[in-house]
Amino acid sequence: MRKDQFPREIQPHLIPSPQGSYAYECLGCGARHGIEKLLYTCPSCKSVLLIGDRDWDRLKAIPGDLWRKIFDHRSMLTQPALRGIYRFHELIGSIIPMESVVYLGEGHTPLVGANDRLAQWVGRPFYFKNDGQNPSASFKDRGMASAFSYLNHLIRDHSMDDVLAVCASTGDTSAEAALYASYFVEGVTSAVLLPQGKVTPQQLGQPLGSGARVLEIPGVFDDCMKVVEHLSDRYPVALMNSKNAWRILGQESYSYEIAQMFDYDVSHLMVAVPIGNAGNITAVLQGFLKLLDLGIIEALPRVLGVQSEHANPVYLYYLEPDPRKRRFEPVNVRPSTAQAAMIGNPVSMPRVMSLVDKYRKLAGDGAVQVVQVSEQEIMDSMILANRNGHIACTQGGECLAGFRKAVEKGRVDSHVVGVLDATAHALKFSIFQEKYFENAFEPEFRVVPRDEYRNAPIAIDTPGSVPSPGGGQRLEPEEFQIFVEYAAQKIAQLLGLEAK
Ligand SMILES: *Cc1c(COP(=O)(O)O)cnc(C)c1O
Ligand SMILES: [Zn+2]
Repeated sequence: MRKDQFPREIQPHLIPSPQGSYAYECLGCGARHGIEKLLYTCPSCKSVLLIGDRDWDRLKAIPGDLWRKIFDHRSMLTQPALRGIYRFHELIGSIIPMESVVYLGEGHTPLVGANDRLAQWVGRPFYFKNDGQNPSASFKDRGMASAFSYLNHLIRDHSMDDVLAVCASTGDTSAEAALYASYFVEGVTSAVLLPQGKVTPQQLGQPLGSGARVLEIPGVFDDCMKVVEHLSDRYPVALMNSKNAWRILGQESYSYEIAQMFDYDVSHLMVAVPIGNAGNITAVLQGFLKLLDLGIIEALPRVLGVQSEHANPVYLYYLEPDPRKRRFEPVNVRPSTAQAAMIGNPVSMPRVMSLVDKYRKLAGDGAVQVVQVSEQEIMDSMILANRNGHIACTQGGECLAGFRKAVEKGRVDSHVVGVLDATAHALKFSIFQEKYFENAFEPEFRVVPRDEYRNAPIAIDTPGSVPSPGGGQRLEPEEFQIFVEYAAQKIAQLLGLEAK
């Protein structure tokens, strides 16, 4: 729609322009640091940072109802920079000019409702939000769009040049960082660190295909993370892990989209996310808190964090009901099919602690919960979801298993509707589906496939008397006809079909 066709009250707000006064805010000592330089931890106390807008309160001059109209009308614009996460520009990076926005098609992923069979299995209606339908097939594209748009802004401003973007990754961060870096004509290249043998073949193929330098490190993700932190402390590189607070800002768009899709009435929702390095749940909590603060939503939804029993430090932390007695202990991870969340020492834990406190103060203790699920539950849930029209990855399966568990434990009121994060596309994690179908899980996983969920291709072989096109040489028309009839008859027999 053309700009002059929008209602008058919306027109001045339609195309965002740079505004606000952003700073890194330290969660440890409360210090604020300028954003001209890339910072990942507080120079004074080494804590992790979030990005805040010192002029945030100016946004309250616009009433919630008008904000809702602005965001809704913006969705009718055709400008690429506003088709993605920056529809919510004022909330997630308002100092970035539209010309600096890097848009590769991220955001605005679909909500797909569970059919009756699946909803009954869980005990509540729910939706998957398919973040696997982002350009590199995971939710992290949202955060990369934000972090790379900011880099682009610094480069265009001439305050930075020749950026080497680096990250450690359980697979997806590297795919996303490499993709966004590869879009730059000049000024940005990327190098990614992966735990050797602990990412799927698809995830390894992605950064290679995008032309990144790919470095394989012995150990697990937590070990890679230490190496990349050391690297970013000592060398001029741009760290693209969610320790980079720009990532968090972009990922808040996930919450904004949910609010928009439910016409800003989210009070009856439970939003479930898998927790790995805890950047995603940080962004989800922060996103809803911002919407509430501006009166864009009137009440907060519940948030459910889900972890595997094999990588459950956040679950263990919140198991202790008394906040004064809680003590955070990193865990040693065991192999998990929710491999993208297989993290024992989440970098964003201090952010989570601070935001969960805030969230619970506003919405009650039950408003944020964490559950853990078994590897068996993760796999059964993913397979079942995908047998019912979804494209969930193992982490999506983890969410489903967690939501079902929360329902079972009586922690989900009867009117509540689930919104589950399918964080990546099923195809990225098809190796676990294969292991399930072939009953080939290594013993550490302790996953035994259910027979009724297994599937395998059936080869239609031809006996020697029937000509076959499989040999490479062309068949004569009569021979080919014999083959077609034989194969069709065999298939009809297998499928139990009666001739018409
Ligand atoms: C990174 C990732 C997660 C975990 O998200 P965190 O922000 O690290 O908690 C979950 N699922 C997928 C597919 C991921 O790539
Ligand atoms: Zn500090």
